[in-house]
Amino acid sequence: MKKVVVAGAGGFIGGHLTKKLKEMGYQVRAVDIKPLTRWYQITEGVENLVLDLKSKENCYQALNGFEEVFNLAADMGGMGFIETHKADCMLSVLINTHLIMAARDLGVQRFFYASSACVYNGSKQTDPDNPGLKEADAYPALAEDGYGWEKLFSERMCRHFTEDFGLITRVARFHNVYGPFGTYDGGREKAPAAICRKVIDGKLFDKKEIVIWGDGHQTRSFMYIDDCIKGVLDIMYSNIQEPINLGSSEMVSINQLVDYVEEIANFKLSRKYDLDAPKGVRGRNSDNTLIKQYLNWEPSIPLKDGLKKTYDWIKEQMVENKGKDSKKVVFNEF
Ligand code: NAD
Repeated sequence: MKKVVVAGAGGFIGGHLTKKLKEMGYQVRAVDIKPLTRWYQITEGVENLVLDLKSKENCYQALNGFEEVFNLAADMGGMGFIETHKADCMLSVLINTHLIMAARDLGVQRFFYASSACVYNGSKQTDPDNPGLKEADAYPALAEDGYGWEKLFSERMCRHFTEDFGLITRVARFHNVYGPFGTYDGGREKAPAAICRKVIDGKLFDKKEIVIWGDGHQTRSFMYIDDCIKGVLDIMYSNIQEPINLGSSEMVSINQLVDYVEEIANFKLSRKYDLDAPKGVRGRNSDNTLIKQYLNWEPSIPLKDGLKKTYDWIKEQMVENKGKDSKKVVFNEF
């Protein structure tokens, strides 16, 4: 039975990955800084540890006796969070630094690091008609301020730990992941969840207007969580020694994303564009040439299908909470 640690297991992707690894018959240790009551998913039969992985001692405790590590722990959120918490985002470097040192010293056999499309050079993302970012487009480096630089630095740390210490590392650059059991309110949510919430809120509370960040013409691609989990596992157990895109290549504008959600809801709102809100780069898409070459696969769950499942889950949560204040903004307090 393989013994694996999931760091950031109380989070969105970590929660889904923990569940999958357990289903695969692995012995899983799940670690997160949040109290258990705030984990998105708790999987039965998994050892859960609440630890701050910025601390070196905690990282040694977390990995002790285990063979493989998936590092998904980071202080992060959507554009609204990363544009206003650059220093907090950079402090996640302590998590990866201490985890990878512990992995080296404790004889861990494989180490996965969750990087991001935010490592890509901003000057290659100024056109909404983005042809797709190739892995080489991360250099010369001009990453997203704060969050993206931390990811790029941690990617390189993985590379040098492989070169200098022989630790097997795998790095995937996630492009916007979405799905159920993630955040949809409170300031850390990303566009798909935020738009689902706003449309559901409109429907539940009979509102007429939706506020969209930016002019709605900015483009992105969005990967459904099931594709993400498959990709993480396939990359982890592959021979891919370089950082690789893990994202959908189905690019849409934010306006199209709103169209899709309104279609699912069967409800239309009038659109108000907040041009001063955080909006990130102008156009971003994933070039999947490399992943197709290596794995003969790319994320392909259609956005409309994944959005329907995400919408239904968020609606269920919001209906349960109806009557409570749906607009309360609370940042996670760690
Ligand atoms: P998430 O915020 O839901 O999960 C991250 C988890 O890390 C949280 O539960 C948080 O409590 C935990 N964490 C933060 N600081 C910690 C600490 N000091 N010690 C222990 N745990 C700590 O985010 P997610 O969407 O599941 O993302 C997982 C990973 O994937 C992150 O590294 C993120 O940067 C990366 N990523 C995600 C996306 C996306 O679209 N979701 C895109 C690109 C990259």
